[in-house]
Amino acid sequence: MASGNAIRGVRVGSGPIRADERCEPVASRRIAYWCARGHRIEPLFAADAPAPSEWECPRCGQPAGRDEKHPPGAPRSEPYKSHLAYVKERRTEAEGAAILDEALRRLRQRRGEE
Ligand SMILES: [Zn+2]
Repeated sequence: MASGNAIRGVRVGSGPIRADERCEPVASRRIAYWCARGHRIEPLFAADAPAPSEWECPRCGQPAGRDEKHPPGAPRSEPYKSHLAYVKERRTEAEGAAILDEALRRLRQRRGEE
């Protein structure tokens, strides 16, 4: 076949195609961090540089870690303190006092029943 002969003579390229690594732009990667306030940030790092274990949150200045469930700065061994801290962040002093008052009343009621 004539067409087969025409195609056979064509060579694309002159050897294996190989990307020159030195010409590639600096590779980068995004690493996700979470701070104790729940902000998620994704700073950009060079791909060959080791990512730090902590990064400062640009939104609140708190240290942010790579574990979403356990951000740095969040008290882990004191759940009551942590809960109160969260309540204080969301509520005013008066609201907090009312909640505490109600909680104490319930506690006293429960103790009275026992
Ligand atoms: Zn933050």
